[in-house]
Amino acid sequence: MTDRCPECAAELPQDATWVCPTCGYTLRTPSVSKVGILFMFLGLVSVGAYVIGPDNLGLTSGAIPTQLADFMIADFPLLVIGTFGFGMFLMLVGALFIRSARSKASAGA
Ligand SMILES: [Zn+2]
Repeated sequence: MTDRCPECAAELPQDATWVCPTCGYTLRTPSVSKVGILFMFLGLVSVGAYVIGPDNLGLTSGAIPTQLADFMIADFPLLVIGTFGFGMFLMLVGALFIRSARSKASAGA
């Protein structure tokens, strides 16, 4: 059974797992990109949490140690930027991966 590219309907060779060698269409999203999206989503959620106010999240309710809660509240912007930045970094890694897969695919064609 031969797979076809959903973009240009060209038949896909066995080794074309990531990109279509004919049109460069991304056939599969690397899992690193999915994790990146997840982290960016978490970053957005924490921005929302920051807008609500880290003091109102119940961090100091005793569920986690007070020192840790204080630390999280004090460094909340850093936490948000860190989460979001990490997500962007993973997305970049995924994009570069697809890029190299694409250039390899076109070099082989
Ligand atoms: Zn294609």
